[in-house]
Amino acid sequence: MSAKKPAEAASTISVRGIVQGVGFRPFVHRLATSLELTGWVLNSTAGVTIEVEGDRPALKKFVEQLSRECPPLAAVKETRLTPHEPHGYGSFTVKHSSTEDEAAALVSPDASTCAACMKEVLDAGDRRSGYPFTNCTDCGPRFTIMGSLPYDRERTTMQDFQMCQECRAEYGAIEDRRYHAQPNACPACGPRVGFLDCPPGGDPISRAAALLREGEIVAVKGLGGFHLACDAASDACVVRLREAKGRDAKPFAVMCRSTETVEELCCLGDEERQVLESPAHPIVLLEQRKPHRVAEAVAPRNRCLGVMLPYTPLHHLLLAEAPPVLVMTSGNFAGQPLISDDVQAREKLFAITPHILTHDRRIATRCDDSVVRFIGKRFQVLRRARGYAPLPVELPGGGPSMLACGAQSKSTFTLTRDRQAFVSQHIGDVEDEDTSRWFREAVAHLCALLAIEPEAVACDMHPGYLTTVFALEQAGLPVTRVQHHHAHIASCMAEHGMDGKVLGVSFDGTGYGTDGTVWGGEFLACTYARSERLACLLPVPMPGGEMAVREPYRMAAAHLGAALGPRWWKRGIPGLPQWPEDRLELLERMAERRVNSPLTSSCGRLFDAVSSMLGLRDTASYEGQAAIELEMAADRGEHPPYEYGFEAGGPHQAVDLRPTVRRIVEDLGRGTARETIAARFHATVADLVAQTCRRVSGEAGTNRVVLSGGVFQNRLLAVLTGEKLEQAGFSVYQHSLVPPNDGGISLGQAAVAMNSANNTVTEH
Ligand code: ZN
Ligand code: ZN
Ligand code: FE
Repeated sequence: MSAKKPAEAASTISVRGIVQGVGFRPFVHRLATSLELTGWVLNSTAGVTIEVEGDRPALKKFVEQLSRECPPLAAVKETRLTPHEPHGYGSFTVKHSSTEDEAAALVSPDASTCAACMKEVLDAGDRRSGYPFTNCTDCGPRFTIMGSLPYDRERTTMQDFQMCQECRAEYGAIEDRRYHAQPNACPACGPRVGFLDCPPGGDPISRAAALLREGEIVAVKGLGGFHLACDAASDACVVRLREAKGRDAKPFAVMCRSTETVEELCCLGDEERQVLESPAHPIVLLEQRKPHRVAEAVAPRNRCLGVMLPYTPLHHLLLAEAPPVLVMTSGNFAGQPLISDDVQAREKLFAITPHILTHDRRIATRCDDSVVRFIGKRFQVLRRARGYAPLPVELPGGGPSMLACGAQSKSTFTLTRDRQAFVSQHIGDVEDEDTSRWFREAVAHLCALLAIEPEAVACDMHPGYLTTVFALEQAGLPVTRVQHHHAHIASCMAEHGMDGKVLGVSFDGTGYGTDGTVWGGEFLACTYARSERLACLLPVPMPGGEMAVREPYRMAAAHLGAALGPRWWKRGIPGLPQWPEDRLELLERMAERRVNSPLTSSCGRLFDAVSSMLGLRDTASYEGQAAIELEMAADRGEHPPYEYGFEAGGPHQAVDLRPTVRRIVEDLGRGTARETIAARFHATVADLVAQTCRRVSGEAGTNRVVLSGGVFQNRLLAVLTGEKLEQAGFSVYQHSLVPPNDGGISLGQAAVAMNSANNTVTEH
């Protein structure tokens, strides 16, 4: 710009949101230059600071377009304008900041390969033709390669690779798509693929594809860890993979070559397609369209299939030559942490397959694939990891920096900074030394990455959870123990930015109650600071404690005993499964004498019980299996609820399901279809939620009902319950950004602990 007239107006603009490492500064530069504005842009503690000056209309346009036209991976949360006198800048520049400035910025999640990069990969004439690590500012690895902030190459695992001249030129040119793309790489200078402990030769990706076509299992290193892959169309391959991995029946996710392939397998709505193809590229649970090519063993007895698209060039190249649908399950043995480096791969994965396709870009932190779905138009995360973590959830209020340690199964932890709650990626079931170590590593990594030093800790009330043990080890920090179901409700409140009173319905498998019994069918009057139990499902014994989780017939026996009285099996009731009488006798004795038979109000266990009564599943290979199969069996038509009752007495109301169990037994005796009974049972639970809420909403002082807990992963139940409550005049809140299962617990703990400073128990 030549001889400039003096600027009419000037402003300092601070932009908050995901604006670092996503091509935001070049975008600002382009925008300012195109509007003939002068000034500068700088990464700052809270995001990006811009100073611009020029014509008034141009300045106005600049502000408008700043959030509207920002790069695909950026998200502007807030822009704040401070007008001031023009300084008379001659041009617009990108300033470089001092590193300590940037600690408060957000870490962007990993993003799937963009169309521009894929075009280069598939272009035989391009220098990145066939290169599996191609990326740019609009796509590629982020969270899984970052060691600490600010987001610079030296602080990522890309520090192992020296950019070649051409890559460096792209990196330095503001008009280039790879300007400041920290993981920028090409075949000459970047990471490489190869088979672990195999001499190099040929194209490793083609070889992997050929092995998959031949029916082999291949381990593939991706963004956040290894996958185990095999041809999803081959029942034999899938069964072999199940045996090798020690995973009996839990559904596997598949990766499809293209969206068209997905549509051959499943019904795909517009919203679902958008999320499937979004930068996060999660696994989306879709209704299957049968018959199709995928083997039954992939998702046995399930109406849904978890589907994702290739999200790195490596996956694209592999799927181009491999069978069009691959099982892609996390590379580990059931219950163990995801394997993320060659040392572990050698140690563990060779036991599963001799074919390990690896690469030499280190993974800074493990990250599983995310799992999401839609319930009607409502988006819901079931497992929050790659593509979403570690984006924060905004809390309604700020407070000291917290570390909330979560529960035990499907664990996550949460770190807070002011109003931002950073929910970690899914860690898994923290039940043994390996997962506990991984949990600790992940906490240390995220604290370092976000430069957060927790000032307080929150955990579950369960003394036996390893996450509770970990919380109590944080020497000198005050600890808040949060009741499990209170945390469930608070997590849903937090993600909706709610404050004040709510009526929480927390239905799940297991949670430590304040009275020492096992809770899980709770109606709670909640604020963040307090929770009061207003009603619950009438407790029954859980014969054998945790054994009852794996053997749902134990819960069937407990509920039948409660409904039909002692030695009910002697009465020759038709229609019930024939369980061995000596087992039933033993269970009854255990329950009577309260030997290892805690009382439970768990709704998850009730679903298990009914599933077992219907002969669907007596033993489960993963938690919730029996309940899921009950949901899958249920007829989708409209069915009236069964009868149930209320028991006042005691300090709170109890929903009496003994009449329901008796009606189910009658229906079984009559030979009513299991599909009908399952449907009527779902209608019953939905109905009792609405009726109980009616009874206690006065006491709760609100008509806002919050639904949380693992039982609400049941889509049929979530829909029916939502409808019933809305018909009864309640405002209903369900999960979207964090899971209804225990993956959401840490967020709820953080929200509760921040608001219960006065109730805090200080240990040590
Ligand atoms: Zn790209
Ligand atoms: Zn290069
Ligand atoms: Fe729970």
